[in-house]
Amino acid sequence: MPDELIAIPARSGKAAFVTRGQTVKVINTHGEQVVDTWAFSRADLTEFMSMEHSRAGIQRLIPAVGDAMLTNRRRPILTLLEDTSGGIHDTLMAACDVYRYQRLGCDGYHDNCTDNLAQAMRNIGLAPPETPSPLNLFMNIPWTADGMLSFEPPVSTPGSYVLLRAEMDLAIAFSACPQDVLPINGIGRTPTEAHFALA
Ligand SMILES: [Zn+2]
Repeated sequence: MPDELIAIPARSGKAAFVTRGQTVKVINTHGEQVVDTWAFSRADLTEFMSMEHSRAGIQRLIPAVGDAMLTNRRRPILTLLEDTSGGIHDTLMAACDVYRYQRLGCDGYHDNCTDNLAQAMRNIGLAPPETPSPLNLFMNIPWTADGMLSFEPPVSTPGSYVLLRAEMDLAIAFSACPQDVLPINGIGRTPTEAHFALA
């Protein structure tokens, strides 16, 4: 039976409840969309997937197939089971927010991943205790030997995906990043929708 696809609308967020042992397939529908991803323990939202704790656990900057991402209490929360996207993701950059776009020169309100997380969680009756650093799926932040970082277009292709397994009951939240100043959503700087499916 085909997975039921749930849309993460362009420039917006979407959250869902996931039971331990379920899988979440996150699909880069159009190929160049960064998807900020958060996971919170259902039992206690103050326990959540943490990039800094995960990097210490996996000893990599980017999770590889088989790696388990950890919570801020160092418990496995999501394991990467499959990755057809080219394996380039980001664990370093904070979610974008209104201040980020102000610094990039935007006047007035700009959609952002921080507000998208809050709205997505509100839509399933939850309030995130903070905005943890997200697992930025498909986001291409290469580093140089002397430690320089840059914001580059994704290497993923249309329909490519990552498959994650929930290691506890959790709430997962996504934001189709609305970044249209930097080229992280492709050189066209046009944010698009993405999709996910639970199984
Ligand atoms: Zn963003």
